Amino acid sequence: MDMKIYEYDAVIVGSGLAGLAAAKELTEAGKKTAIITKLHPLRSHSGAAQGGINAALHADDSTELHEFDTVKGSDYLADQDCVELMCSKAPETIRWAERMGATFSRDEEGNIAIRPFGGQSKPRACYAKDRTGLAVLQAIYEQADRAGIEVFDEWYAGDIIYEDGKVSGVVAYDIRDSKPAIFNAKVTMLATGGHGRAYRFNSNAHANTGDALSIVARHGLPLEDMEFVQFHPSGLGGSGVLISEAARGEGGRLFNSEGERFMRKYAPNAMELASRDVVSRAIMEEVRQGKGLGKDGQSVNIDLTHLDPEIILTRLPELRELAIAFQGQDMLKEPIHISATAHYSMGGIPTNINCEVRKSPTEMTEGLYAAGECSCVSVHGANRLGANSLLESLVFGRHAGENMVKKIDEGIELRPAKLSDADRMLAEMHKLKTSNGTETIPGIREELQIGMTKNAGVFRTKESLETQIEVIDDLLGRFDNIRIDDKSKTFNTDLQEAIELGHMLEFAKFIVDGALNREESRGGHFREDFPTRDDDKFLKHTYAYMDENYNMRHEWGEVVLGKFEPRERTY
Ligand SMILES: Cc1cc2nc3c(=O)[nH]c(=O)nc-3n(C[C@H](O)[C@H](O)[C@H](O)COP(=O)(O)OP(=O)(O)OC[C@H]3O[C@@H](n4cnc5c(N)ncnc54)[C@H](O)[C@@H]3O)c2cc1C
Repeated sequence: MDMKIYEYDAVIVGSGLAGLAAAKELTEAGKKTAIITKLHPLRSHSGAAQGGINAALHADDSTELHEFDTVKGSDYLADQDCVELMCSKAPETIRWAERMGATFSRDEEGNIAIRPFGGQSKPRACYAKDRTGLAVLQAIYEQADRAGIEVFDEWYAGDIIYEDGKVSGVVAYDIRDSKPAIFNAKVTMLATGGHGRAYRFNSNAHANTGDALSIVARHGLPLEDMEFVQFHPSGLGGSGVLISEAARGEGGRLFNSEGERFMRKYAPNAMELASRDVVSRAIMEEVRQGKGLGKDGQSVNIDLTHLDPEIILTRLPELRELAIAFQGQDMLKEPIHISATAHYSMGGIPTNINCEVRKSPTEMTEGLYAAGECSCVSVHGANRLGANSLLESLVFGRHAGENMVKKIDEGIELRPAKLSDADRMLAEMHKLKTSNGTETIPGIREELQIGMTKNAGVFRTKESLETQIEVIDDLLGRFDNIRIDDKSKTFNTDLQEAIELGHMLEFAKFIVDGALNREESRGGHFREDFPTRDDDKFLKHTYAYMDENYNMRHEWGEVVLGKFEPRERTY
């Protein structure tokens, strides 16, 4: 077969904030770097981030307080050395983004404005109206482009080249004409973002199908803490489209169908600004007690009508438009229906503090790096604080770039790729494309998503999780019998969706299996049959592995503790 083998110092999969930040470091250091991305960089989900990016910028705040809030918010599962690195680099990172042209909103004195976010003892989310992600993504993309990054957009990465514990690039195909190519590299980075699409109600872009997770897991590598999925309190009722936490940060109040401001019962001090896991559970508990609103009774109200309309018009204009477009509700005039929506993945591809991918709790894979939402470094532990994820993507994206530069300078060799390195991906494409069974891709995907929301959502039990394992096993079997009608080579989105669905089925099993093994409640993971946190048994990271028959095995990894001793979380 006629197939091109490209050679690079570094290859990065993903052009969100994490991938672009790394690419910029590498390119500026003179390293030949390619980014492979299934979307145009500016379509990456980073651009959808609304609310803000954290940094302790103001005099009455401190890096140490930011660290404490992050560790407490994580329900003490975060690795404290990584949290310290992230928080201490936050102010410098904001200035770096600003120097590149990101236009942050300003306060009356002309300083970068900050707004309060849940679970934080000080306001520290810097923002650009409610389009923070887009402002930062555009600036970094422009500057990375100027530095000369090479972008292969509308290319789908289907596999890594992995042999004897070392990764030497990726295998990908051009979505335009299905032509495959090998990207041989000294160092490789995965920055493929989140995987919220496994859930029926989610706030994520269609592209957030967690591809890299199962790509690494298929080589026998572990995934970390996958049971920790964040449910955001304010998805628009019915669709799950996000209304940023900025709505609560600016003063939004939550009410049930009886007009009760119910957060008084759940977090009497922090109220609506308790951390996301606490508020999401409160909302769903009200719904369970029959105090929900909306057509299906699954929502509660967020009310912003008491605010000065100027605040909504200048700081939350996009949120207002979203609620009008999706629900016909204008937050200037009436409360908006919201419900908990799957939003963020705390778990992912395990890395050490230098973003090198682990092959077990204690050993590293050579030449492979990961950063951003697909990775688990772990700065968020069991629950991420709002506005800490853009920060993580930028800080660890850059850090991964710097460490890759170092690795190349230390002389890591390019292990030449062979045409046969593409065999796995080509076999997968061929098998799916020639499938003529009876199952449909949307059918299987919908069953997966409905089951995940119902059985592995905000509330979980042994029974619900065991049911979901059965659902996934059944769907994995039926996936072998799908039918793809489009046999063409040009923009074959059926084929791409089938590949993505294969990934979703596999990583979803990691989520459910992890949730079943973790017989405690911590952060975003809530077991009704084990409602309290159990540090004696479970102050540990989950490392899970899947074999070729989809059987799971897991082991535990140590949490890096530090100056903050695990304490009970109160709000
Ligand atoms: C609606 C919404 C609002 C948010 N608001 C905030 C906020 O206010 N503050 C905050 O801190 N966080 C927020 N987050 C979270 C934050 O935006 C993300 O966690 C972060 O931007 C992830 O960045 P990333 O670089 O890891 O991935 P992404 O920006 O998601 O980029 C992933 C990239 O991977 C590429 N890719 C994926 N699979 C493949 C493949 N197989 N082949 C080739 N390319 C591939 C895609 O093309 C894309 O370029 C929000 C998230 C959502 C969904």
